[in-house]
This record gives sequence, structure tokens and C-alpha cells, in this order.
Amino acid sequence: MIYYDKVSKTYPDETVALTDVSFSVEPKEFVTIVGPSGAGKTTLMKLLIAEDRPTGGTISFESANVHKMNRRDIGKLRRRIGTVFQDYRLIPTKTIYENIAFAMEAAGRTDAEIAADVPHVLELVDIGHKIWNFPKELSGGERQRVAIARAIVTQPDVVIADEPTGNLDPTNTAEIVRILKKINQLGTTVLLTTHNKGVVDTVGGRVITIEKGKVIKDDKNGKYIL
Ligand code: ADP
Repeated sequence: MIYYDKVSKTYPDETVALTDVSFSVEPKEFVTIVGPSGAGKTTLMKLLIAEDRPTGGTISFESANVHKMNRRDIGKLRRRIGTVFQDYRLIPTKTIYENIAFAMEAAGRTDAEIAADVPHVLELVDIGHKIWNFPKELSGGERQRVAIARAIVTQPDVVIADEPTGNLDPTNTAEIVRILKKINQLGTTVLLTTHNKGVVDTVGGRVITIEKGKVIKDDKNGKYIL
């Protein structure tokens, strides 16, 4: 479904972020990409959603080369890949309901669909009781649950969670991992990045270890080894 083939990325200032990275991800897989800060995890995710271009190699999504897509195809690609980031990226002036509704409007959903689906998706991530609150009235863990709800409400095929637990304590981290696993069990492919050993040990499943821009391990049942 997702195919990185000898992907390299050197930034304009000559920082080498990735060197010859190859791996593929099957539909409905849960893949954790682990490595220290600066290893190239975020770069890998940005290249997949065509926010930047590789300097070598190719990335394919269902056989289509992501970096040969026109604007329209990139728009379609991004509707199929939900994203969650370390810093939540909620709109501070909108309520939780409005934050989710806004993402649904952007994806062309009707008012009736929005009214039906927003409460449902918030229940799925156990945050339904905060529907009329503003982001600043929520804890970090609660905000991240809202961000996950926003990423999944349009039913993407893939969710990218780039260091989603980076600002969270162990209890909230465990909760976010549990929710991502639940989403995966409901049929969504999940790509999770982290530098946190504890996260890797609780997720289980496939772990790709990346260090200094290179894949050094791809383990079907991995543990953090750095
Ligand atoms: P990680 O997500 O694992 O922390 P990143 O992909 O963010 O790693 O960064 C990989 C390397 O690329 C780092 O050395 C980082 O400083 C560098 N880098 C990231 N973005 C840029 C950029 N826009 N310009 C120059 N260097 C960058």
C-alpha cells in the first residue's frame, strides 16, 4: 500500500536527513517507527503526504508515485491520510465540536453528516463530555484525543501519528497508544513515530528502527534497542 524505495532526502542547507530508506507497509498494518530526535522520522512522514520532495528514490501510495502527483491528486492523497502531530494543532478559537466540524466541512461533508458524526467520533476517543469546551480547557492528553478524532472522522485509510505522545505523561501516553491500536483494529493502517522506548514496548507489533537517516532494523515484533 505504501512503498518507500531507496528514499533519500538532503535539505537545501545540505543536512542529510534520509539515506536509501526502503520499506513497505501493508493495508491495516500498525507500524511504529522509532529512533532518536533528528533521525529522520518527521521527514519520512512529510514526504509521504507530499509536503516535501525526496532528493532520491520514490514513495508510492497504492502504486502511484506521490511526487509525480498533480495538485488534485495530492489533495485526494491527503484526504486518505489522516495526520496527528505532537503539538495537537487544534484551532484555539473554536470549540471541540467546531474543530472536528471544520475538518469535515473541508472534506465536503454535509451539515447532517457533521451533526451525526462529531459526537460519535468524540465518544470513540472517550472525549464526548468535552464537546462544547475550547482546546485551552483540555489537558494535553485530552487535546491529543481530539486531534485523533479529527484525523479519523473522515475515515482515512491511513493515520500518521508523528510523535503524538511527545508532550504527554506516561498515563496519557498509554491512553493515546490504546486509542491508536483501537483505530487500527477497526481497519485503519497506522504509522506511529516515537523516540520513546516505553511507547515501543507497549505497542508491540512491527517496529522499524531508524538512526541517522537509515533503517537499521525492521522487526516484526520489535523492541527498542538503542
Ligand atoms: P526526527 O523527526 O526523527 O526528529 P527530522 O526528520 O525532523 O527527524 O530531522 C532529520 C534531520 O533533518 C535533522 O538533522 C534535522 O535537523 C534536519 N531537518 C529537518 N527539517 C529540516 C529543514 N527544513 N531544513 C534543514 N534541515 C532539516
